Amino acid sequence: MVEINDTENSEVKGLNFVEQIVADDLAAGKNGGRLNTRFPPEPNGYLHIGHAKAICMDFGIAEKFGGTCNLRFDDTNPVKEDVEYVDAIRDDIHWLGFDWGGREYYASDYFPKLYDLAIRLIKEGKAYVDDQTSEEIAAQKGTPTTPGTESPYRNRTVQENLDLFERMNKGEFDEGARVLRAKIDMASSNMHFRDPIMYRIIKHPHHRTGTTWNVYPMYDFAHGQSDYFEGVTHSICTLEFVPHRPLYEYYVKELADETYCPRQIEFNRLNLTYTVMSKRKLLQLVKEGLVAGWDDPRMPTICGMRRRGYTPESIKNFISTIGYTKYEALNSISLLEHAVREDLNKHATRVMAVINPLKLVITNYPEDQEEMVAMENNPEQENSGTHSMPFSREIYIERDDFMENPPKKYFRLAPDCEVRLKGAYIIKCTGVKKDADGNIEEVYCTYDADTRSGLPGSARKVKGTLHWVSAKHAVDATARIYDRLFEVENPAAEADRDFREMLNPDSLKVITGIKIEPYLAENAAVGNKFQFQRIGYFTPDYDSSADNIIFNRTIALKDSWEKAQKK
Ligand code: ATP
Ligand code: MG
Repeated sequence: MVEINDTENSEVKGLNFVEQIVADDLAAGKNGGRLNTRFPPEPNGYLHIGHAKAICMDFGIAEKFGGTCNLRFDDTNPVKEDVEYVDAIRDDIHWLGFDWGGREYYASDYFPKLYDLAIRLIKEGKAYVDDQTSEEIAAQKGTPTTPGTESPYRNRTVQENLDLFERMNKGEFDEGARVLRAKIDMASSNMHFRDPIMYRIIKHPHHRTGTTWNVYPMYDFAHGQSDYFEGVTHSICTLEFVPHRPLYEYYVKELADETYCPRQIEFNRLNLTYTVMSKRKLLQLVKEGLVAGWDDPRMPTICGMRRRGYTPESIKNFISTIGYTKYEALNSISLLEHAVREDLNKHATRVMAVINPLKLVITNYPEDQEEMVAMENNPEQENSGTHSMPFSREIYIERDDFMENPPKKYFRLAPDCEVRLKGAYIIKCTGVKKDADGNIEEVYCTYDADTRSGLPGSARKVKGTLHWVSAKHAVDATARIYDRLFEVENPAAEADRDFREMLNPDSLKVITGIKIEPYLAENAAVGNKFQFQRIGYFTPDYDSSADNIIFNRTIALKDSWEKAQKK
């Protein structure tokens, strides 16, 4: 194993390797003892759980060490970018619980400065205009073991380069006709040093700068310098940027001095089982209508997870569990789901809902009688109180909770057997009513009036406890039962399959006519979190209407996939 902690100061314990580097730099007084990070999303899609990992790092480390974190939109490609994404990105970061304190910047803010730097590099003989096509340039790149070939345009005069670059920006040439390249080393062992492209012509209006520019900087020419212009000290990104780091440093050195220089540090990206994280693929799912939008509760987007009922805490806890290393990993989605259950268990209000209702009549309970029983809101939370739920002669139970011919050790309801109705009485099954096809339509029971929960008789024990709702008081609602979006553990690894073939056909089931207790109907505001007892965690969806409340199932109470895999 390689040592992860490349630090001189190992006294500070309990820090991840990035925090350790930052702690060391601060201790050494680098950059005047400042810490400034940035989160640099490209506004070309919605943020996903992978971005959440970067956000927790960038904002989290600034918080931890008393620094600041900028939000910088990396808007260097107007073709794919849009303000819709800018707005969504802001909302998602806030929802996760972070704030950039007014330091919202755009790479496009620096277009003038970047252009000036490009002019300077041309004047110093460090950049040239290449008239070749991108195919020709690619063909000359060489391979990691063989040097590339120099462009025939590499030795143009400064005057000619200046003239052509200025005319590129004036819009005199077509897209693809010319690029500006850094003149570095076509034989470098680092492919990124082989005269990388600095600017390309794009004639699409930009969402902020309109038609001011006809040339746009490449990521590598924009990122490090943007960090520098903003005073970023630690530019934390993911491992795929390791080979870009020398180029980052090469450009930044053109600006920085010994008093301040930004530094790039890379950690491993988040990859999740049963999930695709590529923005391009997520956009495809949205555009082709394979999901209901970026915030479809099955999407790995932050807004999808929010709509599904995940909490910011559960996402942050998951991210801190998996941690930050220098090694690529595939993390199990079960770990995320575990974190969601753990957090909801602490915070979700317990309620009764019957998903697949079967009518049950308590024949010895007076027809005109009703009573209110007290239901605990959350046994995990002291002082969370109770709410009352009506009980009456006719109730609904879950169809699965009754069996006419049960196997041994069946602790739910069956003929001549007793169960407790949660929060109410012990009942005994006395018979059933069937339709012409033999399907059970109703179950008949008697109740033992001395066994009401909370009263002395309630000490009597029976093996099973069922959830229920009073038929007369129940409100009809709809449940959307979500499951994993992909049925393949690692869709990204199946290179020769179209990722759309790997979608889980059962990732959404809509169940109408579920029966919910009145308290739940009254409190079904979007954002509220509920545990449907014995079933799972649910949250009301914004698609609900006055006469049809729609609940998203956030997650089942138990991990049925793991169980299925163990069998
Ligand atoms: P693109 O392919 O469009 O570049 P991207 O996912 O890298 O997609 P960016 O908007 O550039 O999107 O990402 C912003 C930041 O989030 C970057 O610093 C990137 O390293 C980080 N990031 C993106 N995906 C992940 C991931 N799966 N895990 C951790 N960090 C990520
Ligand atoms: Mg990126």
